[in-house]
Parts: sequence; C-alpha cells; structure tokens
Amino acid sequence: MIDTLTISATRTAASRLPEVDFDNLEFGKTFSDHMLVVDYHDGEWQEPQIVPYGDMSISPANSALHYGQAIFEGMKAYKNKEGDIYIFRPADNLHRLNASAERMCMPSIPEEIFMQGLRQLIQLDAEWVPSFTGSALYIRPFMFATDGLLGVRPSDSYRFMIITCPVGLYYNKPLRVRFEEKYVRSAEGGAGFAKNAGNYGAAMYPTKLAQQEGYNQLIWTDASEHKYVEESGTMNAMFVINGHLVTPALSTSILDGITRRSVLQLARDWGMPVEERKVSALEILDAHAQGTLQEAFGVGTAATIAPIAVIGYQGQDYTLPTVPTDAFSNRVSGALTAIRSGEAADTHNWMVRV
Ligand SMILES: *Cc1c(COP(=O)(O)O)cnc(C)c1O
Repeated sequence: MIDTLTISATRTAASRLPEVDFDNLEFGKTFSDHMLVVDYHDGEWQEPQIVPYGDMSISPANSALHYGQAIFEGMKAYKNKEGDIYIFRPADNLHRLNASAERMCMPSIPEEIFMQGLRQLIQLDAEWVPSFTGSALYIRPFMFATDGLLGVRPSDSYRFMIITCPVGLYYNKPLRVRFEEKYVRSAEGGAGFAKNAGNYGAAMYPTKLAQQEGYNQLIWTDASEHKYVEESGTMNAMFVINGHLVTPALSTSILDGITRRSVLQLARDWGMPVEERKVSALEILDAHAQGTLQEAFGVGTAATIAPIAVIGYQGQDYTLPTVPTDAFSNRVSGALTAIRSGEAADTHNWMVRV
C-alpha cells in the first residue's frame, strides 16, 4: 500500500470495546470506535479525517435522501494467528466503488485516500478485529451526495466514509429460494451492476413476499423474459451441473462480485470446467430432474458461500441432493477460509497487509 498520506485522527475518549460481547455479534449492529470521513466540494476531495464513530447531521434537503445518489462497498479484514491483519482484495473493492460512482455521476475516490484510509482506520481499531475461526472485521465504505438542494441533478458535494463492524461466524443454514418471475432487481442498461443504495430498497418488497411464502430469498431472473438466472438475493448465483461450475455471465444487470471472481479462480486453479453464460430456470430444473444438478449456492462477502437446499418454481419446490463434505462448495469455502486466516498460501496475492 502507498504510505505517503497521513490522516489526522481524533481518538475516542472512551473505547466501547469492553462492552462488546464477541460471542454474540449480530451482523452489522456493533461498530468499531472510529470512522473515516472525507468531504468533496469545489471539485476536489478535502482532507480525510478519522474521528470517533457517531451520528452526524445533514440537510433535510440532502439529495441522496431524495434522489438516491448513494453507493457502498462491503469487504472484510482478517487477523491471523500472529495477530497480523490482512484485507481481502481491497483494490477490487476500490475499482468497483469507482465504477458505481461513475454510473451514479459521483466523483471517484483516489486510491491513496481509500487505501491509506483503510489502513490507518484499521490500525487504530486493530483490537476490534476478531481472530476466532470464521470471524472478521466487516468494512463498509460508502459515499453519498451532500448538496441540500431539491433540484434533480448530480450533487456538487459528497461525503465518503468508512465504518467497520466486527462479525462472527456466519451460520450458513441451507437456503430455500424461489425463482422470481414478476418483479425485477435490475435490468440490462440499468444500474444493477453498481452497488447503489436504490437497488436494495427496490428489492425489499418482492423479497418480503417470498419470505411470507416461506422462502429465505429470491433467485432473480432477467427483466425481459424472466427465463435466465441473474443473482440469488444479494449474492451471485452458482450451480454445479455434472461437475461443471456454471454461473451467469456478467452484464449491466449483474453485480461483479469479488467472491464470485475468487471462487471462479479457485475452480480454474483446480482444473474444474467453468462456464460463465446464460443459465435458465428450465435448465436448472431439467438438471435436477436428470440428477445432474449437484450443488446450488450463493456467493458474497457476508456469507462467503451460502448453500441452497430448496428451489421453488411456479408453486413447486425442488429439493437439492444433500451436499457431501467434499463437494465443491465446501472445498472452496474451506480454501477461502484458509487463505484468509493465513493457513494456506495466498498464491494470487489477494491478502493485503494493513
Ligand atoms: C455485493 C453484492 C454481491 C457480492 O459481491 P462480493 O464482492 O462478492 O461481496 C452480489 N450481488 C449483489 C447484488 C451485491 O450487492
């Protein structure tokens, strides 16, 4: 990492660390002592600052609240046995953040602010990074418009922030999902590839309907025909069919997940055939009927690998075979955990030392 920028830090007067129950962390609820804040106005980023985590005030006319110029990222830092802290593929998150920013007419974040901000923030809150198996420090960088003006146009001013939360082992209870054939998460030409706030707000209602029917989440299908798999909830979707790893090819309606990228890389390293292409609901059901659908799972930073146990389609539930311990999803999950904890060689240089 570049090490030239020194960010001024105001330390908290009283750390909240002693109050935290690390054995019972609810995802996204407990925040570390400090946060990074940097404002953009007059065409440039101002001086970044690290300050105690806390509320802030914004104009009631804040244009992010009204028109949704707001984007975010999600990534994790891990502590190894020696107590060293590493972040998983942070440059990939920076590039994606800047791709989201471009789509939403927001300024891009300079690499120095992002990387040095991350490094100094996490160094300061190093004791908040848990080290037990499966735990991590979840990192949430985000940017939003700050103009207080009701005109519909890109804001002139923005704020970029990073907040962090310790998270425990994510228990991956196999999911019940169903194909969604009415509502859409995103459409070709839309902003589904970007991590912008509005995508998630709009997905809540159809997800709620599915949950009322007893499913955990949806398998989104393409907006024009509702035939092809897009994503699984807020994760990329993957299937193992007859020994091949099959996943929808990237498009403007699919989020380019870093876990997706990493899983595909490991599969290729292991010589497994990988197919990034259109995959239809009917192909999945057909493979299930033939007995060639071996695994289905979602992949994303929060859960890493979320196995799917049941897929619903047009009122019918299809139960997947029980996944053996040496199944691809289990092996790849174990391999990622080993790389992140420092137990396995990081051959692709994914881990960046804080
Ligand atoms: C963040 C996200 C993912 C997963 O991306 P990762 O980089 O692997 O965490 C997949 N789909 C959607 C819609 C997302 O927002």
